[in-house]
Amino acid sequence: MSTVWAVPSGLDSQVCWLAGCPPCPVCLTGPCSCGSVRVSLPVSLGQVSKSGGTRQSPINIQRRDSVYDPHLQPLRVSYDPASCRCIWNTGYFFQVEFDDAAEQSGISGGPLENHYRLRQFHFHWGAVDERGSEHTVDGHTYPAELHLVHWNAAKYPAYEEAVLGEKGLAVLAVFLQVGARHEALQRLVDVLPEIKHKDMRAAMGPFNPSCLLPACQDYWTYSGSLTTPPLAESVTWIIQKQPVQVAASQVSAFRELLFSPLGEEEEFMVDNCRPRQPLMGRRVRSSFRPLKWG
Ligand SMILES: [Zn+2]
Repeated sequence: MSTVWAVPSGLDSQVCWLAGCPPCPVCLTGPCSCGSVRVSLPVSLGQVSKSGGTRQSPINIQRRDSVYDPHLQPLRVSYDPASCRCIWNTGYFFQVEFDDAAEQSGISGGPLENHYRLRQFHFHWGAVDERGSEHTVDGHTYPAELHLVHWNAAKYPAYEEAVLGEKGLAVLAVFLQVGARHEALQRLVDVLPEIKHKDMRAAMGPFNPSCLLPACQDYWTYSGSLTTPPLAESVTWIIQKQPVQVAASQVSAFRELLFSPLGEEEEFMVDNCRPRQPLMGRRVRSSFRPLKWG
């Protein structure tokens, strides 16, 4: 495969922004019509594009620079398995979607002032185990990262408005580490062959995503952005300190998916992660006391 899913230096201030097109192999961050069309974000979204943005994600978390905040409460997580709807190949990653018409599934507490409803979750991963997570910790990259995306229904009438609004989204992030097989993840892995190509979709029965969370509740939190278009700076990130273990074969199964739709040349879905962005003076807070380093 010759496709390089890395953003060439100097090109990533633009994103492709045409709906319903295959993923752009150049800009990484979004769809484009043919891989050669590159357009700037619409003016109305200019303030949320990377260009000029000061709160972009992902970032590297430096443990020694994070600040313990004793006022941070434990995160309260309550997901209704029955609100799980479907799993689909977006052409960039696979995503599991939830019915967010009611309050039944969501998170509150932690750094959040409101209850945020679960909308979807998805993963980012690498072509090899040495890379794949979007966030890093002290420069360490994990093979994959889970993002559970929630929106602030107390402040916004719809997800689409929350995406672009102040404190509109809360994304709960979990690192995946190669180790023991993860039984709950396997339910998703088993469905992946049904959604191998872009735009393929499969129904999901009840599924509780809290089974994908680590036992330890310690987290870091900071203000950032979506890592895919529109890169809106509306996200309160909550990043679990403890990774969850998954089998190497389970991450390998992610890599069998394709960016490409049925009937087109096969492009394996790997390295669907945005490069780290500058911290720009932001403070990363931790819910836990840092370890003393010898
Ligand atoms: Zn993501």
